[in-house]
Amino acid sequence: MKDGSLVGLLNPMIALIFSITFLVFWSRDKQRIYILVIAISYLTMGVGFLISLFVLDDWVLMRSAVSNFCYAAATVMLIWALAKRAAFEAPTTLLCLIAALSVPLNTWLKISSDNINASLYLTNFAIGAMFGIGAWVLRENAKKSVLEKLVFWAILLTAIQFWVRPIISLAIETNIQPLEYRQSTYWVVLNFTTALFSVVVALTLIAACARDVMVDLIEDSSVDHLSGLKIRSAFDAEARLLVAERADTSMPLCMILLDIDHFKQVNDRYGHPCGDEVIRLFGDLLVKSISEHDVCGRVGGEEFCIVLSHVDHNAARKLAENIREKVHALQLKCIPANEKLSASFGVVCLEPNERFDAFYARADAALYQAKNDGRNCVRVGSNKP
Ligand code: GH3
Ligand code: MG
Ligand code: MG
Repeated sequence: MKDGSLVGLLNPMIALIFSITFLVFWSRDKQRIYILVIAISYLTMGVGFLISLFVLDDWVLMRSAVSNFCYAAATVMLIWALAKRAAFEAPTTLLCLIAALSVPLNTWLKISSDNINASLYLTNFAIGAMFGIGAWVLRENAKKSVLEKLVFWAILLTAIQFWVRPIISLAIETNIQPLEYRQSTYWVVLNFTTALFSVVVALTLIAACARDVMVDLIEDSSVDHLSGLKIRSAFDAEARLLVAERADTSMPLCMILLDIDHFKQVNDRYGHPCGDEVIRLFGDLLVKSISEHDVCGRVGGEEFCIVLSHVDHNAARKLAENIREKVHALQLKCIPANEKLSASFGVVCLEPNERFDAFYARADAALYQAKNDGRNCVRVGSNKP
């Protein structure tokens, strides 16, 4: 390390600490590849800083080429990961092109001139351009929440600092000689601003990734793992919300409540694992039968409920009939082919100003009617008394 300056150690330390932090996050939720890529990006950045500090002056060109390559590669990875996190396509080809052009051009500028200003401008502007592209990709995502806005602004401000900082600091210090680089004001300002922005970006990303992992945990705890449908409490909360939203509009909202017929006998005759397999198949069938606007849950042992948006009485009854027919056609290895499964259905549509509990009670009454009428049938509920 030149000059024994501790300032230079600031950035590799920060980058490596954040790399480990993101690695720990990723180990909690390995499906989120972008968290791993962010960790590798910070690691690559840290390695770049260490190379620029510790490789001897005898290999100055190699040192600058490799460390610049690390910074460019780390930035490409970071922008890719942020786009991936927001479910957008990152312009990876454009980012790689900027990296592939700027790194060799930088080395060539170093060979051809004693003045390193041109190469400093180039590195900063290229990295700034990549962050700028990242901000552009994330601009729509920023509208989603305060946290997404923070991520967007952290990336945009990083881009701006890469463009503005070299202009200001090189205007003050006009002609830096390569051997004086580590004593220059430019070097100190560079290290402190880079440290500041990498901490700001990393902290906003840690908050964003923590939120992503938490959302996954909450979603996981609201799913019934046998049927793959929502558990009763999660279903209730979403269904109540739909009913409340619909209270002021004339848009239809219907409910199908269904219960497997003589399910106890399935367990008694063919065993509990066979009963479980039936519940699993019911879950699959119901998920395939509804749209993304609908809510479906397992509300009891062998009782399921669907709340259908944008669907009127007629369409809800038809859907229930359709599901009833599919249930009757289900074939399971554990049940003899001549034994048919069946389910009973109660269908109702929301009345003006009706509360969720009253809505559900009418569906339950219609289901009770279907059971009384011999099962394996659909009954449409009466209007509010
Ligand atoms: P009905 O036609 O009147 O609805 O009769 P039924 O036998 O379906 O209804 P009942 O309420 O008498 O029995 C429901 C059975 O469902 C009893 C319970 O053991 C079983 N059950 C509830 N949850 C599960 C589950 O997760 N797996 C299995 N295998 N069975 C379950
Ligand atoms: Mg039953
Ligand atoms: Mg039941």
